[in-house]
Amino acid sequence: METKTSLLDNMIGVGDMVLLEPLNEDTFINNLKKRFDHSEIYTYIGSVVISLNPYRSLPIYSPEKVEEYRNRNFYELSPHIFALSDEAYRSLRDQDKDQCILITGESGAGKTEASKLVMSYVAAVCGKGAEVNQVKEQLLQSNPVLEAFGNAKTVRNDNSSRFGKYMDIEFDFKGDPLGGVISNYLLEKSRVVKQPRGERNFHIFYQILSGGSEDLLCKLKLERDFSRYNYLGLDSARVNGVDDAANFRTVRNAMQIVGFMDHETQSVFEVVAAVLKLGNIEFKPESRVNGLDESKIKDKNEICELTGIDQSVLERAFSFRTVEAKQEKVSTTLNVAQAYYARDALAKNLYSRLFSWLVTRINESIKVILLCACKEINKTILENSFEQFIINYCNEKLQQIFIELTLKEEQEEYIREGIEWTHIEYFNNAIICDLIENNQTGILAMLDEECLRPGTVTDDTFLEKLNQICATHQHFESRMSKCSRFLNDTSLPHCCFRIQHYAGKVMYQVEGFVDKNNDLLYRDLSQAMWKANHSLIKDLFPEGNPAKINLKRPPTAGSQFKASVATLMKNLQTKNPNYIRCIKPNDKKAAHIFNDALVCHQVRYLGLLENVRVRRAGYAFRQPYEPCLERYKMLCKQTWPHWRGPARDGVKVLFNDLEIPEEEYSFGRSKIFIRNPRTLFKLEDLRKQR
Ligand code: ATP
Ligand code: MG
Repeated sequence: METKTSLLDNMIGVGDMVLLEPLNEDTFINNLKKRFDHSEIYTYIGSVVISLNPYRSLPIYSPEKVEEYRNRNFYELSPHIFALSDEAYRSLRDQDKDQCILITGESGAGKTEASKLVMSYVAAVCGKGAEVNQVKEQLLQSNPVLEAFGNAKTVRNDNSSRFGKYMDIEFDFKGDPLGGVISNYLLEKSRVVKQPRGERNFHIFYQILSGGSEDLLCKLKLERDFSRYNYLGLDSARVNGVDDAANFRTVRNAMQIVGFMDHETQSVFEVVAAVLKLGNIEFKPESRVNGLDESKIKDKNEICELTGIDQSVLERAFSFRTVEAKQEKVSTTLNVAQAYYARDALAKNLYSRLFSWLVTRINESIKVILLCACKEINKTILENSFEQFIINYCNEKLQQIFIELTLKEEQEEYIREGIEWTHIEYFNNAIICDLIENNQTGILAMLDEECLRPGTVTDDTFLEKLNQICATHQHFESRMSKCSRFLNDTSLPHCCFRIQHYAGKVMYQVEGFVDKNNDLLYRDLSQAMWKANHSLIKDLFPEGNPAKINLKRPPTAGSQFKASVATLMKNLQTKNPNYIRCIKPNDKKAAHIFNDALVCHQVRYLGLLENVRVRRAGYAFRQPYEPCLERYKMLCKQTWPHWRGPARDGVKVLFNDLEIPEEEYSFGRSKIFIRNPRTLFKLEDLRKQR
């Protein structure tokens, strides 16, 4: 006899963790490992897809595979990212339910690749026709552009996304893509001026220098040699296996497809060149009559020719700072250190504004899928600065919504199927979110308050304040140079605080918090930029327009991020979530290696066991009546070979006949709910014995 193959056939290990018996951390990891060793990188937790990075190309994304997964149900085939993509796309098209796909995992776990696989699957199965094809092509080609400007080589990942991305794709009633909207969160702009050891600046800098024609480099007044530019660091300029020149051609081509006009592309490259040139500006002290040093630009710099900024305006902006107080303008001189600080602030601003502009520009072209990639919790103590704090806050919120929506989805299915709901205990991380985002006593609020307070504000005063307000919070600890809390732990740096995130304890160094949150650019500099004879640069600094002087302080980086997280959460609440949880099997970017401890760490902080627990707190397994009857009808005389009548009644007869205890299952409207995986295994065993 023939039945369709299913998730339960020829399975290496268990394809759905919900069916894992017994369930504990060891069995969970072993199951992943067993599957990974057999090139099965995908495993389910119900409808959640766990994806292990294979670090090699697997023959599982071919057009034939797309066809295999197309219009099939989740449990019919072995686990695959295409199954999730198909499910999401079909629910959207057939049930008109907005979908979102949340992709999480640590750096190098495969989030970006997963998002591209989802997009390519959807592009392959949705609509045909010239117009639709153009939309698809533009959506797909937005990736190389964003990656060139927003990704960089890090120690963890040669192509690490240094920004959070959320992409909305809109479809029409037939299921054809109409377009997309991308939102970006917090580009790691400090990378523009300084990179950690062994890491690079954003790809685009190296791509232009390696792949730009002689003519382009001449126009941009650039030299091919990376080492000519201070901002490009010294080590790791070339990355093994990465062809910057070839990638530059891909990016140019992608920009063209996305709809950038030639003059726009040129302007963008001019800004990139301007950033490199800024990095080469040097300052020297010049004594003034009053005994103070004033900084002066050492040599003429080509940045002015390139961007149409007036040399004297730029020079002045690097020598003075104007502060307006009570309608009075006060000019103070900048010393050399302040001038360097201002230069770097300008470079960071110029580049991050260019990036936001690119995102907006791409959006104009692609107006419509939804993907979200957020960064991970970092283990390394010294690296955890303001950016990581903010990213971890986003992860904390995503975890909150993950639990909330998973429970909600379970509950809704129970209601739909007319099954009684049982309360599920779970860890609610709201208390940690509150520690960070509470409007009065949250860490972000206190940071803002400190940034706005008159008087001398430093990272230490901020920490002192945190110490006063949060000292008793059970998820918070801090350490100051003179403070006694966990002082006996000498392995920890001074002046830091520690948060017990849902995923584990993370230490943050307060150095730079105030400065990064303020994110101030001296007004003289925005004005100098606004005066540039370069329409793109002018557009990037609207606040430099003297006619639009706004004495109100721009929102801090923290409050801006909090607001975008809130918008993201609101958006996600209205959509049906689909989850891809990416895991990195080793730290070596190598194929075939599965490091148990490393995987275990990620399984913990992704809360995957908790996820399985929630999934099977009520009923571990459910299946529509027809396929269930089809699969097991051979086990009972009354249902074999044909059951005449509703499938639901057939399953009833079958279960009675097999004497499965009544408390083990429930009859929903369209599905049978099975409480314990063991029941299912018993059925499977019986089937095999026949
Ligand atoms: P980051 O947070 O740093 O942006 P990420 O989670 O986006 O990291 P990716 O850039 O997607 O990580 O993956 C890192 C590398 O791993 C890829 O460049 C690719 O070489 C490899 N990789 C990831 N997923 C797959 C896959 N499904 N098949 C083959 N290789 C993969
Ligand atoms: Mg990425």
